[in-house]
Amino acid sequence: MKNNGLLIVISGFSGAGKGTLMKRLVEDYSNYALSVSMTTRQPRAGEENGREYFFATREEFEKKIGEEGFIEYASYCENYYGTPRDYVESQMAGGKDVILEIEIQGAMQIKKKYPHAILLFVTPPGAGALQERLMGRGTETEEEIVKRLKRAAEEAVGIEEYDYIIINDDLDECVKELHALLQESHHGHVEKYDPRHHKEFIEEIRTQLQELVKGEK
Ligand code: 5GP
Repeated sequence: MKNNGLLIVISGFSGAGKGTLMKRLVEDYSNYALSVSMTTRQPRAGEENGREYFFATREEFEKKIGEEGFIEYASYCENYYGTPRDYVESQMAGGKDVILEIEIQGAMQIKKKYPHAILLFVTPPGAGALQERLMGRGTETEEEIVKRLKRAAEEAVGIEEYDYIIINDDLDECVKELHALLQESHHGHVEKYDPRHHKEFIEEIRTQLQELVKGEK
């Protein structure tokens, strides 16, 4: 690929604070372009078409799949989510670092198609914080929260597939850390955030998530 822009994939459990983190990153620094995904899920209160997502029907989404209009797409909690191709390709060609905030199946598709992409997993300091954030934001029903926690437990199995893991404890700190990490990764792998150096933490959050969803149907 003949460009300088990086393709950056950010995944993390629902409720890990990824959305806020990404918004802050693009506000605070000018070299990032945030891709807006298409989804078939209903907009949450305060979400705007074209800003958080392009909201579409299943028919519209499937038509775009047929036209190869996505660089990846996946089904998550019974809805489609996908990354439109045009924006990503044009921004990267213009030298921007393009960020995709997507779940793990999509991340694995990107890893295959774009071997130079940088994959980053954002996690809260513990599973308890995750449950609190999901409940605190009040945008999902209890049933949906259980579904998302189960999905988090499944996704936790794949953390080692990512290049880096970053813990979102304090938002301001995390934005700075993330920017520094991404800038440094232009020059090579950054050992400090490699999941291999955070095995204990990863095991601990996996165990906590398993405990949380145990007994839920
Ligand atoms: P939410 O419904 O909370 O906005 O998003 C649910 C999950 O879908 C999150 O893990 C989010 O990262 C992921 N997601 C958002 N957009 C995309 C996309 O374009 N592709 C894929 N594969 N996942 C996405």
